[in-house]
Amino acid sequence: MADSCPAAVLKPMLHLRGEEQPVLGAMGTMKPTTPTIVIVEDDGATRRFLADNLAADGYEPVEARSAAEGRRLLAGVSPELAIIDLGLPDRDGLELLAEVRSGGERGARLDPHLPVLILSGRAAELDRVRGFERGCDDYVVKPFSYSELRARLAALQRRGQARLRLGRVRVGELEIDPLSREVWVGGQRVELSKKEFALLRALAGDPSRVFTREELLRGVWNFQAMGATRTLDSHASRLRKKLSVGGQAFVVNVWGIGYRLVDGEIST
Ligand code: CA
Repeated sequence: MADSCPAAVLKPMLHLRGEEQPVLGAMGTMKPTTPTIVIVEDDGATRRFLADNLAADGYEPVEARSAAEGRRLLAGVSPELAIIDLGLPDRDGLELLAEVRSGGERGARLDPHLPVLILSGRAAELDRVRGFERGCDDYVVKPFSYSELRARLAALQRRGQARLRLGRVRVGELEIDPLSREVWVGGQRVELSKKEFALLRALAGDPSRVFTREELLRGVWNFQAMGATRTLDSHASRLRKKLSVGGQAFVVNVWGIGYRLVDGEIST
């Protein structure tokens, strides 16, 4: 049999920076509970086989027989991982994957960064490439070796936790990935300039605190010149505009003092 998924090795480990470590037990602040894994698979025998074995290996499997059921569970149980079959009765698994990556519609609560492994009988190179293009993190072809699958899931989980450890920040609907410099509001990607991003990151360091203009100029622009407040104000105003896509106000101007990220309580 040909190597079942050479494409998997090509997936760059974007979030690692060479510090891949065993995670279980090392994560004081992470969920210490068993990781929840959603299995979207219409073939009953395969699904039960996976659920039984993953449960025995310390996961909490949650089973879905269709894309619709899978979507509901992915939004409802906040899993750490997902296995998605492609040939599903109601919708192609790739569509479900694309929906996850887009974060779903507003309020759908799909995690766009959820580690997803595709498990499919479609073995052609084109299928595998398409899977990665749609955003899967790994692709395993049926028939599969369970121990290899489990090892691959463990690797995905480590990467996911490394990413969290490296400080993805979530403030209400706003999400910031300092490593990739990506920002989302309600799952919708927002493009920021370098300085806008730096300003956002500074404010997100303590979302309800008011940062003075001087502080921000020093921290973000690295200078103290008072005359430069117009630079700060124009960046802050552009940033506020860009982050308003979800209708929620971020970057609050506190007259005479400076800025803070959110007004009042933080909803997470
Ligand atoms: Ca199937």
